[in-house]
Amino acid sequence: MLIVPEKLIADLVSAEDAFAAVEATFAAMARGEATNFPVVREALGEGRQYGFKSGLDRAGGMLGVKAGGYFPGNMARGMTNHQSTVYLFDPESGRPTAMVGGNLLTALRTAAASALSIDRLARPDAKVLGMVGAGHQAAFQLRAAARVRRFERVIGWNYHPDMLPKLGEVAAELGLPFEAVALERMVEADVIVTITSSPAASLLSAHVGPGTHLACMGTDTKGKQEVEPALLARARLFTDEVAQSVSIGEAQHAIAAGLVREADITPIGAVIAGLAPGRLGQEEITLFDGTGVGLQDLAVAGAAVRRAVERGLAASVEV
Ligand code: NAD
Repeated sequence: MLIVPEKLIADLVSAEDAFAAVEATFAAMARGEATNFPVVREALGEGRQYGFKSGLDRAGGMLGVKAGGYFPGNMARGMTNHQSTVYLFDPESGRPTAMVGGNLLTALRTAAASALSIDRLARPDAKVLGMVGAGHQAAFQLRAAARVRRFERVIGWNYHPDMLPKLGEVAAELGLPFEAVALERMVEADVIVTITSSPAASLLSAHVGPGTHLACMGTDTKGKQEVEPALLARARLFTDEVAQSVSIGEAQHAIAAGLVREADITPIGAVIAGLAPGRLGQEEITLFDGTGVGLQDLAVAGAAVRRAVERGLAASVEV
C-alpha cells in the first residue's frame, strides 16, 4: 500500500489537475460508468461530524472511500476544521492500494466543482462575482472561479463580517477589487458562490437577479441551508449527484416544501457529457447544488498517487 501524506499534496495536485479530474468523473457518472455509494454522516456531539463518502469508478479502475468530517474545535488548536483521509482499493481484489491525505484535496475538488459549474452554466460575459461565506473553503472557491471567467470585481457577504478582509486579500492577489456588501447587493452579481455552514437561509430570492448562476456549495448535510427555497423554484437546477442533492444538499428544503421535484434536477455530468443542455438563455437563473461526492475524492486522490509514484515520493508499507 502506498502512502501519500497531506504535506506532499500541494506539490502534487494543482487546481487545474483537480478541475480535469472532477470534470472527467462527473462525465463518467452521467454515462453510468461510475457510481457513488450512499453517504454515511453522523453527529458526534459538540458540532463534530464524521462520515464516509465512497464509490466505484469502473472506467477509471477506482474503488475507495474518504473518511473524515468536521471538527469545529480544531482551528483553535492550529488545525483545519475539516479532517479527512482517502483510502483507495484495487476494484478487482479489494486489496488496499493507497492512503492519501484528504484535507487539501477536499478543498481543491470542492473548488473545482463550483468552477466547473460556472464554466458550463454561467453567462460567458459574467463580470461580477458574489461570495457568500468567508471561511477556509471560500478562498479556494474564489481562486477557482477566477480561473473560468474574466471577473472585473468581487462582492462579499459573511455572517461573521470580521472574516471578510481575509477573502478581500485573496481577491487582491487575483487583481480583483473587493467590496464587503449587504446581502441585498448580491443582486449586482452575475455569479454567486455560497460556501457557509449556515443552518438557515441567508441568501433570499430577492437578492438574486435574472441571468445569475449560483454555485451553492456549503450544504452537504441534513439541516444545513444557505438559500431560500423559493430561489430554487425560480432556477434551473443542476447538481453533482441527484440522490445527495435531494437528501443532504440545498435542494432538500425545496423538495420538502414541494417547490421542486427530483426530476427537475440535472446532473452536471450530463451537461459535460453532452447528454443534457446547459444554460438556455441570458435571463435564466442556473443553480448548481454541490453536495460533494465520494468519486470526486477518489479522482483527485488517484491523481495525487500517480504523480507521487512518477516522482518517487510515495512511501510503501505492507498492510
Ligand atoms: P469554515 O468553518 O472555515 O467557515 C464556515 C463559514 O460559514 C464562515 O463563512 C462562517 O462565517 C459561516 N457561518 C458560520 N455560521 C453561520 C451561520 N449561522 N449563518 C451563516 N453563515 C455562517 O468552513 P469551510 O471549510 O469554509 O466550509 C464551509 C461549508 O462548506 C461547510 O458547511 C462545509 O461542510 C461545506 N463543504 C462542502 C463541501 C462540498 O463538497 N459541497 C466540501 C467542503 C466543505
